[in-house]
Amino acid sequence: MRILIQKFGGTSVSTHERRNRVVNKIIKAKNKGFSPVVVVSAMGRKGQPYATDTLLSLVSRDFRNSSPLSIDLLMSCGEIISTVVVADELSKLKMDVVPLTGGQAGIITDDNYNDAAVLRVEKGKLTSILESGKIPIVAGFQGVSENGYVTTLGRGGSDVTAALLGTALNAESVEIYTDVDGIMTADPRIVSDASLIEKISYNEVFQMADQGAKVIHPRAVKIAMNGNVPLVIKNTLNDGKGTVISNSAAGASGKVVNGITSMDDRVQITVKYSENKDSENYYTLLDELANNLISIDLINVFPYEEVFTIGNEDMDNFKIVMKNLGLNYNAIKECTKIALIGSGMRGVPGVIAKILKVLSRENIKVLQTADSHTTIWCLVERSKASKAINALHREFLLGEK
Ligand code: ASP
Ligand code: MG
Repeated sequence: MRILIQKFGGTSVSTHERRNRVVNKIIKAKNKGFSPVVVVSAMGRKGQPYATDTLLSLVSRDFRNSSPLSIDLLMSCGEIISTVVVADELSKLKMDVVPLTGGQAGIITDDNYNDAAVLRVEKGKLTSILESGKIPIVAGFQGVSENGYVTTLGRGGSDVTAALLGTALNAESVEIYTDVDGIMTADPRIVSDASLIEKISYNEVFQMADQGAKVIHPRAVKIAMNGNVPLVIKNTLNDGKGTVISNSAAGASGKVVNGITSMDDRVQITVKYSENKDSENYYTLLDELANNLISIDLINVFPYEEVFTIGNEDMDNFKIVMKNLGLNYNAIKECTKIALIGSGMRGVPGVIAKILKVLSRENIKVLQTADSHTTIWCLVERSKASKAINALHREFLLGEK
C-alpha cells in the first residue's frame, strides 16, 4: 500500500468552493494509486462559526482556566465538524469514506489538556479502513488520553497529527495543504522577487524559525524528521509543486544560502566590565536574566564586555532587573536580526566575508554576527533591514528562476 497523508488547514476547508479543490486533490491521489489518509483542521479563522477561536469564545474566561478538560472537548468539535463535512463532499462523488475523531484514529496522549503529548498511535483501525479501500478522514489537533478523555495537541496541532500518522503508517509523504505556495527564499513583502524553495532540509526549516513556523508547526517537522518521512508544503488553490522538506534535501540546491529570514524588534545590549567592575553582579548577570525569563541571543562574552540581544517586549522587565542588580549598560533599540540559512554553507570558506562585503558596499553597519553550521546571523538597524535583505538576496542569487 502506498500511503499518502493529505492534511488540509483551516482556510483550505473554509468554503464549499475550496473544499471542492480539497476533494479533487484527494481523488487525484487515489487515482494515482495512493491510499490517502486525510487530516483536517477546523473550518476557517476566528469569526467564522466553527473555527477554534470562535468555539473558545463560547465559554467564559474563568471556565477556560478552571476546566482545561472541558475546553479540549469544546475545541475538538471544530475538527470533528470538518471531518464530516469533507466526508459528505467526498461521498457525493461516490468515494467510500470514514470520518474519525483523533481518538478513534488511535492517537493516544497523556492528560496534559490543551497541550497533550502523544504517547503512541494505535494504528489498527486506520490500517483496516485503508485495507478495505476506504478513505479515513481524521480530525487533526486531537487525541484521547488513556483514561478516555478527549485531549488537544496545542494550537496549530493538526500538522502534528499529520506528521504522526505519516510516521506511524510509514507513509510515502505527508502533504500539508495551506494558502501559500510553500517556503519562500525571503518574505515576499520585503523582497519582491523572492522565489519558492523547492527542496529544503528539516534542519533548515527549524532555522527559519519565524518564517518556517508560520507555514508548518515545528513539532510536526521534528516528528517527520525522526520518522524520516518527507513533508511537502502545497497550496490548496493551485497545482504548484510546493516545498519538499526532507533529509536528502540538505544542500540539494547547490547553493550556500537557501533562504533569508529576519526578526524585528531586537535590542542590542552591551554591558562593559569597566563600567561595572565594582559589582559582583556582573558575573551572574546571564543567570539573573534567565531567572527572570528574559531570553537572550547573539551572546558574545569578551574579557572586557558582554554583548547580547533581547526582544523589545522584554525591555521593561530588563530595566528593572538591571536596576536591582545595580549594573550599567548601553542599549541600541530598533534592531533587526537577519538570518541566512543554508546547509550548503557547512565548511565553505568565505561566506561571512561575502556577507560583510555586501553590507559594507550598501553602507549598512553590522552591529553583531553569529554563525552555526547552517545559519549566519547579522544584526543591523531596523531602518536598514529591508535594504540589507534585498542586497543579500541578490548576492546569493535567490531570486525568481
Ligand atoms: N484548529 C486548531 C487551531 O486553530 C488546530 C490547527 O488548525 O492546526 O489551533
Ligand atoms: Mg496551521
